[in-house]
Amino acid sequence: METILQHIDKHQFEREELGKAAMILREGGLVAFPTETVYGLGADGLQEEAAKKIYAAKGRPSDNPLILHIASTEALKDIAVEVPESAYQLAEKFWPGPLTMVLKKSEKVPYGTTGGLETVAVRMPDHEIALALIEMSGAYIAAPSANTSGRPSPTTAKHVMDDLDGKIDMVVDGGQVGIGIESTIIDLTSDVPTILRPGYVTKSMLEEVVGEVALDAAILKENKDKNLKPKAPGMKYRHYAPKGDLTIFEGEMGHVVARINELSKEQEAQGRRVGIIATEETKHQYEHGIVKTVGKRSQETTVAHGLYGVLRDFDDLAVDVIYAESFEEHELGQAIMNRLLKAAGYHVEHVE
Ligand code: AMP
Ligand code: MG
Repeated sequence: METILQHIDKHQFEREELGKAAMILREGGLVAFPTETVYGLGADGLQEEAAKKIYAAKGRPSDNPLILHIASTEALKDIAVEVPESAYQLAEKFWPGPLTMVLKKSEKVPYGTTGGLETVAVRMPDHEIALALIEMSGAYIAAPSANTSGRPSPTTAKHVMDDLDGKIDMVVDGGQVGIGIESTIIDLTSDVPTILRPGYVTKSMLEEVVGEVALDAAILKENKDKNLKPKAPGMKYRHYAPKGDLTIFEGEMGHVVARINELSKEQEAQGRRVGIIATEETKHQYEHGIVKTVGKRSQETTVAHGLYGVLRDFDDLAVDVIYAESFEEHELGQAIMNRLLKAAGYHVEHVE
């Protein structure tokens, strides 16, 4: 199939420009579109056949459910049942925005969209193009990240085309996304609201609204119990995997840099291509390898924004090994480390 690529200026566009994309969605086709987190691959979430096409295009395991994207909080009544008050409080505070809520699904939502689960994940994206597209299609748009399964999530339309050109009907190019990592997922069907995936909206931000919030034990780094299954089915897969072998180094920054310098020198001597994931603060201290900055350590939003692009760059450069600095696992750093650790298959070296 030929994939239509349409550029739309997110700051200044007429709704009619999205007419074609909305029509494709209504007719059960696939359209990738920008959100504030990453690009999503959308289909009408209430048409089971349409949702199935998403799995085929991405090569996504069928037990990995999709997030339904809505443009108005009213939609909650339609797609979920027994919606707790906390959902409305969180919606009031964080929607539109990078927070996904897991609720009990209504009969309307097909199991093909929820990966067979009785629950449904819902989010209202904070992006003019996404919101207009949802409204114009008249649908609830099921959309996972618009990448091939196992690749880093796309933060530009080019990333989407690199993975899905020829496999989907259309890509709406609205420029680079803002945040750069996927939404926080919170499960509101458990007694204590539980974070299933860390993201831009942090635990402390959520606790300010709904009180105590837990973190799914299966996604913690210190979890050594391999039988513990993450409650977000997608979190069990080795997502975001770069082609090169990725190791994360933690410890005092000076020691980390020295260790990476030592190893990259060795690797290059053996004829291997080395990629280094550095930060603005440290980039000048590396003596070997291809050095790329993900952002400023002192401003973690820039790191979230830059991370996936750098992982993809290293794929394009066909590096054999990648060495990454680590980040503090608190606030946004928790989401950054979650993605980085998964990309590394939890391969971490502590430098003394
Ligand atoms: P993606 O949009 O590509 O980031 O993938 C959606 C994520 O949401 C995956 O990790 C899913 O496992 C998770 N998810 C979607 N629906 C549910 C649900 N009903 N319960 C738990 N996790 C969900
Ligand atoms: Mg994804």
